[in-house]
Amino acid sequence: PKESVKRTKALSGVTVLAGPTAVGKGTVSTFIRDNYPDVWLSVSATTRQARPGEQEGVHYFFKSADEFDSLVAEGEFLEWAVVHGINRYGTLRSTVNAAVAQGKSVLLEIDLQGARQVKEAMPEADFVFLAPPSWDELVRRLVGRGTESAEEQHRRLETAKLEIAAAPEFDYIIVNDDVSRAAAALVDLMGLTPHHIV
Ligand code: 5GP
Repeated sequence: PKESVKRTKALSGVTVLAGPTAVGKGTVSTFIRDNYPDVWLSVSATTRQARPGEQEGVHYFFKSADEFDSLVAEGEFLEWAVVHGINRYGTLRSTVNAAVAQGKSVLLEIDLQGARQVKEAMPEADFVFLAPPSWDELVRRLVGRGTESAEEQHRRLETAKLEIAAAPEFDYIIVNDDVSRAAAALVDLMGLTPHHIV
């Protein structure tokens, strides 16, 4: 896909980053967290187990299924979804609201289902789709990282086809050919102030 530039909306301070499996959303988000202190990367709640090195409140808020159910029932989520058919992930309204209230630029790295829910709840947010340079490159990245079984890879690629078809729903498309370049492009569009909007 071609990089698109569409700068027509007022900023809410919230930017949503979505994109298919293995495109590098996590890598780009982590790069931004480590290199751009002005951007606040939202911390999601999840029912999945912490991986080695992951910290409560830094990478995720780790919840039991029951705790997650309660948060859903209490309306605490801005959005939530079952991702890759296994675990639930969601963005807590309280964390986003607190950051926005402090005037921070908030980045949500979430899946397509979540992005669509945020679009309903917060249409003024900016929606960015991270795209692979090509389909073959996406397959190479997924197979190359070697963290999923062949069956799981196949399932994720089927989902990825649907996700890529949804790219036109987004305000911007950034091609992740290089992590630091993609991160810089994302931060650049997040930093737009109204006088930059054309
Ligand atoms: P991982 O388990 O590798 O940390 O994340 C798996 C997937 O969950 C990623 O595609 C990520 O975008 C998605 N994800 C993480 N947090 C959230 C969230 O709060 N909401 C939604 N809808 N998806 C999320």
